[in-house]
Amino acid sequence: MLRATRGSGGPALVIDCHTHLNRYTPEAPATLAERYALLRAEMETHGIRQALVLSSYAVTPERPSTRDILELVGNDARIGVVAGVRLGRDRAEELAELRELLEAGRIKGLKLYPGYEPFYVHDAGLRELYALAGRFHVPVMIHTGDTYAPKARVKYAHPLTVDEAAVEFPDVTFVLCHLGNPWFADAMEVVYKNANVYADISGLTLGAFEERFERFALGKVNEALAYINNPDKLLFGSDWPISDIGSYLDFTRRLDATPEEREGLLWRNAARVFRLELEGAPGATHGDDRTA
Ligand SMILES: [Zn+2]
Repeated sequence: MLRATRGSGGPALVIDCHTHLNRYTPEAPATLAERYALLRAEMETHGIRQALVLSSYAVTPERPSTRDILELVGNDARIGVVAGVRLGRDRAEELAELRELLEAGRIKGLKLYPGYEPFYVHDAGLRELYALAGRFHVPVMIHTGDTYAPKARVKYAHPLTVDEAAVEFPDVTFVLCHLGNPWFADAMEVVYKNANVYADISGLTLGAFEERFERFALGKVNEALAYINNPDKLLFGSDWPISDIGSYLDFTRRLDATPEEREGLLWRNAARVFRLELEGAPGATHGDDRTA
């Protein structure tokens, strides 16, 4: 178990900013309610205070809609929902639904899946979507790097594409998911250069880290920490159930991070970027949104 974030005797504080309730394998429970119960059990086991659940770019029997997830978890203070944007859908319909959810304060952010869907994040057609994110002060999470689907097209998921969007839309906060894996150097530069860009370290492995790959990934995230040199920029996310939460916490504990970087990574940055309410977290939500 992770103990590194204990403050002055308080409980360990960890926010997992990147989880899913999709059914990725036939072995996974068939119902959304069962998968939600599994996530809550994982959070309990590993001391995760809050988790963000990201809905998908598609709605299928395996991929629940944002509304279905909200209906199930909507009153759970430990779960926040980030709406996957479905660019395959009629754009006006999609924007209308997202606007409604944002106006009602029901979602903590938006998630784009370039690569899984064939578009660039700097596409002019996304202007209205970014205006919505800016207006409601919610971050836009962006899948970057390797895809969990061989038919996806990774050129759209290169982290450098986010630089274009970040410059074009300075009022929008972007979160690069997966630190651009395997384009870590490109991702760290985009995070370092742009005040409105952050990154999560989720989904670097399938299941638990295997020893050799963990060494590789530790090296890459350590490089990012050193290069970015700013404790406010990286966020802890696991990508559960694709990655194992316990293994991910062990991975995080092994990082060569300063106490400030570790605290920022494990909860403080997610709390600030996603404007999460955290009971008993000193200074967690003092609204110092540097990119607003
Ligand atoms: Zn994910």
